[in-house]
Amino acid sequence: MSGDKVDPFNIKRRGLMLVLSSPSGAGKSTIAREILATDPNITLSVSATTRPKRPGEVAGLDYHFVDTSEFNLMVNRGEMLEHAKVFDNYYGTPRKPVMDALAGGRDVLFDIDWQGTQQLAEEAKDDLVRIFILPPSTKELEERLKRRAQDPADVVAKRMAKAADEMSHYPEYDWVIVNNDVNESVHQVRSILTSERLRRSRQLGLGEFVKHLRDGQ
Ligand code: 5GP
Repeated sequence: MSGDKVDPFNIKRRGLMLVLSSPSGAGKSTIAREILATDPNITLSVSATTRPKRPGEVAGLDYHFVDTSEFNLMVNRGEMLEHAKVFDNYYGTPRKPVMDALAGGRDVLFDIDWQGTQQLAEEAKDDLVRIFILPPSTKELEERLKRRAQDPADVVAKRMAKAADEMSHYPEYDWVIVNNDVNESVHQVRSILTSERLRRSRQLGLGEFVKHLRDGQ
């Protein structure tokens, strides 16, 4: 190791679970996409859902689209890390891909609601980093939901009504970002991710590294 520059991220570390939650329309998906596209060390946890596929969504990439009996089967077999009913559909996080990624030292990003976040907190408190994204205003939230226009009008109205309820859960999160500007928000999420990766408790190889340093190697 002598003379070589050390990349602290090459020191073995435990993967972390980065949760992004927000009322729908606050811009969370855009932020998540940008983080995933630019950071090779984090992968998306692809949820299973019983809701119908929206135009442009890709099965297996955005969601695993399943019917209710398949969903229940997964839950009963203990294959879900967490699951919840959100609006009128069921959503859940398949356990195995998450565990495999974490064991391999890779971080996992979760786009899940507050109910799922509470369940993850019970299962994996030390590995969890929770970020809540707030919209800049109610008006902006409504406009974003309408602009998206992928859901029927009654669904948009229902999601608006639910937004206030969702937002009341922000105190259960470690970090809160007001999404005034998507680039700024992405930068803020990246900063959090970097800081959390550098936590001493997550850098498992530090003892060995410092021993090398002390031995003058
Ligand atoms: P959408 O239908 O708009 O994709 O998602 C609706 C809500 O369900 C979002 O708040 C999203 O974060 C949440 N969600 C998506 N996947 C999961 C999941 O696996 N578990 C939980 N608890 N919530 C999820």
